[in-house]
Amino acid sequence: MHKTVVDNLIDIKKEIQLKINKDNNLLLTPKIIAVSKTFPISDILPLINFGHLHFGENKVQEALDKWLDIKMNFNHINLHMIGRLQTNKVRHAVKIFDYIHSLDSEKLAKKIADEQIKLNKRIKIFIQINIGNEQQKTGVDKNNVLDFYKYCKSLNLDIIGIMCIPPKTMENKNYFCEMNKMKEKLNLTELSMGMSEDFLDATENQSTFLRIGSKIFGKRD
Ligand SMILES: *Cc1c(COP(=O)(O)O)cnc(C)c1O
Repeated sequence: MHKTVVDNLIDIKKEIQLKINKDNNLLLTPKIIAVSKTFPISDILPLINFGHLHFGENKVQEALDKWLDIKMNFNHINLHMIGRLQTNKVRHAVKIFDYIHSLDSEKLAKKIADEQIKLNKRIKIFIQINIGNEQQKTGVDKNNVLDFYKYCKSLNLDIIGIMCIPPKTMENKNYFCEMNKMKEKLNLTELSMGMSEDFLDATENQSTFLRIGSKIFGKRD
């Protein structure tokens, strides 16, 4: 039998539940962001009709094209911006998204703060951390996180947690563990980490938002 996107989501939820049942330290079930980038709305609708609430996109224009109508009809849906955000796209991003996971510069923070005031909307925001200290990767440097967080608070941004895309190694567990400690230090509640290949490791380290694409929708082109 061909598995549907809903079957895939249910399977993932079962795997997470098994993990949680085995580990007494895990008290919260992480939310699943269904990362629907590149997939048409016809592939997404079955999940919406199933009652799924959290969806992720990584491009502002694609999000506007796909979600503007849907969000008018289903206003309980939460749309997450998980990709790199350019300052000239912030206005539209603030309009269409409920969460931004990729805040990583003062310039972007200032721009989001300005547009929020103009649009009278307050987005929930994650600070993206360059957890692997990778030169080519975006994200705030680990050593600057506290200062950056204070700056964001001074702009009255609603920072709810931190997010990372760890290096492609076998040792993601260590990065996830480090992220969890950083979250505790900052006294934040949310952790955005874990994708199709490592969502159970992220769950084990108290992730609260898993960002899962291909394991739900299949391979992207
Ligand atoms: C595409 C993407 C994901 C989902 O990746 P999968 O491996 O398909 O689950 C998660 N986070 C970010 C930032 C992405 O760009």
